Amino acid sequence: ITAAGSPGLPEPVQVQEVRHTKIFIGNEWHTSQSGKTFPSFNPATGERMCDVEEADQEDVDRAVEAAKAAQQRGSVWRRMDGSSRGRLLHRLADLMERDRRLLATLETQDTGKPFLQSYYIDLEGSIKTLRYFAGWADKIHGKSLPVDESYVCLTKHEPVGVCGAIIPWNFPLLMFTWKIAPALSCGNTVVIKPAEQTPLTALHVGSLIKEAEFPPGVVNIVPGFGPTAGAAIANHKDINKVAFTGSTEVGQLIKEAAAKSNLKRVTLELGGKNPCIVFADCDLTMAVEEIQKGAFYNQGQCCTAASRVFVEESIHQEFVRRSIENAKKIVIGDPLDPQTTHGPQIDRGQFDKIMELIKSGIKEGAQLEYGGAAVTDKSLFIQPTIFSGVKDHMRIAKEEIFGPLQCIFSFQSQQEAIDRANNSQYGLVSAVFTTSMDKALSVSAALETGTVWINCYNALHAQTPFGGYKMSGNGRELQVPSVPLTNTNTHSFVLGNVGKV
Ligand code: NAD
Repeated sequence: ITAAGSPGLPEPVQVQEVRHTKIFIGNEWHTSQSGKTFPSFNPATGERMCDVEEADQEDVDRAVEAAKAAQQRGSVWRRMDGSSRGRLLHRLADLMERDRRLLATLETQDTGKPFLQSYYIDLEGSIKTLRYFAGWADKIHGKSLPVDESYVCLTKHEPVGVCGAIIPWNFPLLMFTWKIAPALSCGNTVVIKPAEQTPLTALHVGSLIKEAEFPPGVVNIVPGFGPTAGAAIANHKDINKVAFTGSTEVGQLIKEAAAKSNLKRVTLELGGKNPCIVFADCDLTMAVEEIQKGAFYNQGQCCTAASRVFVEESIHQEFVRRSIENAKKIVIGDPLDPQTTHGPQIDRGQFDKIMELIKSGIKEGAQLEYGGAAVTDKSLFIQPTIFSGVKDHMRIAKEEIFGPLQCIFSFQSQQEAIDRANNSQYGLVSAVFTTSMDKALSVSAALETGTVWINCYNALHAQTPFGGYKMSGNGRELQVPSVPLTNTNTHSFVLGNVGKV
């Protein structure tokens, strides 16, 4: 099946009615205890797609009960061997492949992201994550440690128990699988809350979890709001771990709630203000394209957004000129149209925040080079926007914008670039563009971010750990237990263009 007029490309399905809108507990669908529902909107059209059952404390309590029962010693799930857990994860991946066009369509309608991106990036990444962790399920080895005198110590890894997960709206399905796949691979059970803006793909996957025949209670999905359902997870005494992705402010609340309730383990994947350093000896065409994808991908709504671009002075003007030319190729439009590469922001709150930050950039004296306006008065579309002459003290240089803004700075010396790149409360990702291997490796090693991309951007894979330094979070996502990383700040270097010659 191909998109009309675009041979070879997949096309969206017609969704007449959203089928799964209830709370998913113990492999059954439930209405909320309070009787409340909340609407889910399509941000591209403003259309109300459906009403979803709104989980609150009581529903979370029921979900935790189910998750606790499912992982009790002696339960089907607890006794299941690793290879059988792996088979279930593969079966879920198979079902997601079967429903791939429907899931990509729902994801696009719920988030506004272009359909082909949903199909090729979000679905691809989700399915690969499930398969990667399916493969780990029977390889979670302990060690035998020769110790002093005549003793030997054996270690083994046990599930943590009930894991809570709270996820954002920018990559609803990908974050859903990033949370459940490693947790299930290791034999845990999960209570997961999708973001209130984007619950639909998670709920559809709930139906696939049942169809795949995971035992009841292994995954429970509680759509609802942060201060109610989310806080109930963070504060719950029977949840042993919480994994959160979202804003740094809420991350702080999660850690506090975890400390005050039962000292549950916490992993946090929070905001970023990610620096790219572009040296004069780089492949300029490639640097311009990769960085701009980094800045504008998903309408800039990425924790990894390339939001501070430091360019060596001698190529600064040319970099700005080419970035403007490149931005002109972006196609703003209906996210279901395969030609579209740029959709709307997620909601009015985010839209207003971004427009206010664009105004602050102009007011504080940055040079508006491209875009800078809403596409129309009524909709949530914002033009991809480029600022040059940005100074480190400006708000657009310091705050996480979560919108389509590329901020370009210039620098003179390598040391200056490193110091300014590191001068942030965040430390999620960074990138270096140069053809000098020496420079690439020495500058990367000096950057205080969880991931450094060299001559590439947004190169995220199920096989690599992901997470931040400083206030970008703690712990690492996509980590397997055989690798003892908990006491280190994992520093990943990802090289692009390898093996192309
Ligand atoms: P948020 O942090 O409020 O929401 C993320 C998730 O946390 C959602 O599921 C939400 O319901 C939940 N949540 C909110 N308050 C909670 C609470 N008190 N207790 C428990 N859970 C709670 O993010 P947002 O309001 O959707 O967006 C605000 C800003 O956060 C964005 O502008 C952006 O800067 C940042 N953000 C970052 C990411 C990321 O991937 N790191 C994702 C989304 C948003």
